[in-house]
Amino acid sequence: MRALVVDHPLVAHKLTALRDLRTDSPTFRRLTDELVTLLAYEATRQVRTSAVTVNTPVAPASGVRLAKPVPLVVPVLRAGLGMLDGMTRLLPTAEVGFLGMVRDEGTLLATTYATRLPSDLTGREMFVLDPMLATGGTLAAAVRLLAGRGAASVTAVCLLAAPEGMAAMAAAFPAGTAPEVTVVTAAVDERLNDRGYIVPGLGDAGDRLYGVI
Ligand code: URA
Repeated sequence: MRALVVDHPLVAHKLTALRDLRTDSPTFRRLTDELVTLLAYEATRQVRTSAVTVNTPVAPASGVRLAKPVPLVVPVLRAGLGMLDGMTRLLPTAEVGFLGMVRDEGTLLATTYATRLPSDLTGREMFVLDPMLATGGTLAAAVRLLAGRGAASVTAVCLLAAPEGMAAMAAAFPAGTAPEVTVVTAAVDERLNDRGYIVPGLGDAGDRLYGVI
């Protein structure tokens, strides 16, 4: 696994506002959207392109466009949905799949309750959206599912990560082995608490985006 912790004052500013318990849901959603767009800029740094030539009003110009097949963006429901618009703003031609996963709050193990994904992901570049990389159980299960369908590379975009989750991902997906996994995040916090929450974190990302239901 390759880790990229995005060090940028705007990223830090938005993350600080997200952490603040006084930030209400509408503001939390807007800030998540803006923060994901900043993270997406870094997360797409290696995206595959193919060479093209276009005609400017003056002369032909060499350039690039996103290679086919286009990347697939996969928000992990429910909280990952709050990251989708921020990601597709930079990748408007990407296709979008959905993965519903829920973490058992007792065992902290993830189970899959819904999938809407192509059955064959051979050669696809994937961007998985999951705001909180806590134990790494959910993200590792998501990556395994995608790799099992042939995904060549998986970039996870997370607002925040715990050291335990980063270590679990690095152990599950060693560098130089398939699938090629990258985790892009705004910060790696101190630790997990005994309920599997990131400390200091920002609380339950799904609840803060959508309310406690
Ligand atoms: N999921 C969350 O929403 N928050 C955490 O701190 C950990 C997992």
